[in-house]
Amino acid sequence: MASKMIYYFGKSRTDGAGDMKSLLGGKGANLAAMTKIGLPVPSGFTITTEVCVHYYKNGKKFPEGLLTDLNRAITWMEKETGKKFGDVSNPLLVSVRSGARDSMPGMMDTILNLGLNDNTTEGLAEATKNPRFAWDSYRRFIQMYGDVVMGVQKRHENEHEPFEEVMHHLKQEVKVKEDTELTEAHLKELVKRYKALIRERTGKSFPTDPVKQLEGAISAVFGSWMNERAILYRQKYRIPDEWGTAVNVQSMVFGNMGDDCATGVAFTRDPATGENVFYGEYLVNAQGEDVVAGVRTPLKIADMAHDKIIGPAYKELVEVRKILEKNFGDVQDFEFTIEKKKLYMLQTRNGKRTALAYVKIAHDMVKEKLMTPEHAVRSGDPEALNQLLQPIFDTDAYAKAKKEGRLMAVGLPAGPGAASGAVVFTAAKAEQLAAKGQPVVLARIETSPEDLRGMIAADGILTARGGVSSHAALVARQMGKVCVAGAGDVEIDYHKGTLKCKGVTLREGDPISINGSTGEVFHGKIATADSELKQVLVSKKMKPADSKVFQYYNFIMKLADGYRKLGLRTNADQPDQVANAIAFGAEGIGLCRTEHMFFEGDRIIAVRQMILAQEESDRKKALAKLLPYQQKDFEGIFRALDGRPACIRLLDPPLHEFLPQSDNKKGQEEVAKQLRISVEEVTKLVHELHEFNPMLGFRGCRLGIVRPEISEMQARAIFQAAAAVLKDGIKVKPEIMVPLVGFKKELDLQVEIIHRVAGEVMKETGKKFPYSVGTMIEVPRGALTADEIAETAEFFSFGTNDLTQTCLGMSRDDSNSFLPAYQGLEIVKANPFASIDTTGVGQLMKIGVEKGRSKRPELKIGICGEHGGDPSSVMFCHTAGLDYVSCSPFRVPIARLAAAQAALREQAAASKATVKKVAAKKKPSAKVSKTKSPATKSRRG
Ligand code: PEP
Ligand code: MG
Repeated sequence: MASKMIYYFGKSRTDGAGDMKSLLGGKGANLAAMTKIGLPVPSGFTITTEVCVHYYKNGKKFPEGLLTDLNRAITWMEKETGKKFGDVSNPLLVSVRSGARDSMPGMMDTILNLGLNDNTTEGLAEATKNPRFAWDSYRRFIQMYGDVVMGVQKRHENEHEPFEEVMHHLKQEVKVKEDTELTEAHLKELVKRYKALIRERTGKSFPTDPVKQLEGAISAVFGSWMNERAILYRQKYRIPDEWGTAVNVQSMVFGNMGDDCATGVAFTRDPATGENVFYGEYLVNAQGEDVVAGVRTPLKIADMAHDKIIGPAYKELVEVRKILEKNFGDVQDFEFTIEKKKLYMLQTRNGKRTALAYVKIAHDMVKEKLMTPEHAVRSGDPEALNQLLQPIFDTDAYAKAKKEGRLMAVGLPAGPGAASGAVVFTAAKAEQLAAKGQPVVLARIETSPEDLRGMIAADGILTARGGVSSHAALVARQMGKVCVAGAGDVEIDYHKGTLKCKGVTLREGDPISINGSTGEVFHGKIATADSELKQVLVSKKMKPADSKVFQYYNFIMKLADGYRKLGLRTNADQPDQVANAIAFGAEGIGLCRTEHMFFEGDRIIAVRQMILAQEESDRKKALAKLLPYQQKDFEGIFRALDGRPACIRLLDPPLHEFLPQSDNKKGQEEVAKQLRISVEEVTKLVHELHEFNPMLGFRGCRLGIVRPEISEMQARAIFQAAAAVLKDGIKVKPEIMVPLVGFKKELDLQVEIIHRVAGEVMKETGKKFPYSVGTMIEVPRGALTADEIAETAEFFSFGTNDLTQTCLGMSRDDSNSFLPAYQGLEIVKANPFASIDTTGVGQLMKIGVEKGRSKRPELKIGICGEHGGDPSSVMFCHTAGLDYVSCSPFRVPIARLAAAQAALREQAAASKATVKKVAAKKKPSAKVSKTKSPATKSRRG
């Protein structure tokens, strides 16, 4: 490896900086940044993510020269701290921590107190005049090292941690309850037993050489990048495996040396609600892991102000809170330790927050001029906005539950919203019931990263132990799960499968309800109701002025609109859906699937008559019955749109979808009765319409080509509706879209009908309405011949559901039997039906855009497949030069934020390119690139 592998941070020298996250990881970059602004950070160094990448590319081997650089770095740290690695009288002890570019809380490994062995422990005892502390640190180190590096772990979910088990037995033998009651002699015995456990489980001795310990720890941290939970986490948050993790080696400070020591985790603002309050917790005489692991329930940070011994450090912390927000321009989540009354900062990062906290914090910090508007938009997770639509308890049901005395306990409100479901005690059970569609609340004494799968599956999470920074709270906050943490009165017994509280015993499967906004836990079911945002925007039960949540949300959305270049449309087939989408910010309809209207009321009878008609005249009769229905539907839609564009697609699905299939004899009998024909005839026709590959069969424009009267009726319904609405002074902009076009001629034939009918309706009604005709690009041939098709089409809309299906040759309905395995094996990084396969399908789209616009430069291009509401696909659509994305109404806010982020990303890349250009210009010898900066014009459609 040619590049620098280790970056120092300390009093005499700091190599890194806050903007070097991709190389130093988030933790390493921010440690450098904090050191530079003068905050008290213990010295250390960061091994780069490039080393990790190299490690994996080279059969898990360190790059050449790393061990030499490591030795040099240790010597430097020895100088910085005045301590020596392996020294008996004044040993240097270090922590070894992972640190990826994006934080992955609790997913990778950490080792503390590294450098201890039998000798240095005596040295530490002597130096601190606290032998108990020294032996306690040693046993903690062996425990962590044994677990993380040597793999001594529990072997199944309900087994106790093996080291905890050994400690538990010793405590019973010496008749003490608390860890803190173990004496120096007990701890020495514990060390002996821990070492024996390691030998017994691994056949190896615990290593005593600190340098060997360090090498082992670095390998283990790199190794933890590929542990199951880290991989799962990356899959969920789409973090590429190629990034790798950095490793931070930092001199230890101790929060567990006595009552003048403490350790804590704090947020500069409340990460659950976004309130501007100093928020966090601490434990006196403890190490950081104790706070995060949730084993002891910590104290509220504000209580520290009243602590007689460490009270002064609280004042410093309050100062630090301000400095951090000012320098990092966002809410910070930081760890600190107080060693003998002196404050040390161990890490800081942008705090993970709920969607509610995101909109509130962004709103407040922009107004306070602490956060830039760009950052406010950039830092939101678009997908998380869904949380704002999550249910709350129904007011009456909630009041009733309280009145009935069903409140069992109150814990910490760690993830807002309400969840009601069956209580389960293991992640496996949560997954199992959730897979059957049953809502579940996962209740654990405390959660650990192994519970991740269950937490993903559950609607709500409840823990009996742990604070707001415990694993459960942290993960729930990020996933947007409803969570109550540390409900201390709740007693969970895994073996018996019970949850007890206040004389009530719940067994697995019994209903339980939790309120993550207040921390309340109820037994029994409580009905849920719409979120505040839905009450303002959808049901309109609440006025915007009465909802703070709406106001914060709206502030961010308006900010986002200032950057967004992509237009936003919705996939909707009914006026109420259109109204919802418009309330969420949609600027028109991107896809109206007309066939959805066929199922309403008893119009399906006419549809079936149309399908089953043997003669054209019968078919026309049936279509004539459908015409007024469709016209009325379109009128409703035009009115709801109030002049916004409506992209309406002609009939698309295979006709058998409208008929009862051969396994539904009763349905067929009913149809026979309705249509006054024999059951045999219906069965015969169903049989005739049966296709082996209906998705590739008689559907899309093929229907309108073989049975032009269908397209004619639909075009007439659309145009008559347009004329009728126009009469009432409401503007209309119909865009007629022909599906599944692969040949120009297919479109030509349909367009001919549409233009003819438009002319007829204008003549008949005396109304002139604007309209355009375009096509979906959803088969590869359509994309590859887009130049020919664009001679006729006035617009394109990528139907990426079908385009994915036809490009990949994977059935959109049947691929679930193998796609999870494909994702597991990383053949595909994400489900291609949810997130655009940019290399394959994306290439077809780019070809379509390029060829289409080569013939018709003003060609309007959108997307209406499910991908239109997926943030990473929205990013792709922006870069591919589309005019708009269209998605379901409730995903419009997500697409809205994602589109703004795409524009900001493009802007950042352009300004980086400009900086490079200027730098290159300054150097006369350098070649100046002639590439134009990306287009910045608005492309809304
Ligand atoms: C598509 O194929 O992407 C599309 C929007 O059409 P449908 O899902 O109705 O086939
Ligand atoms: Mg389609």
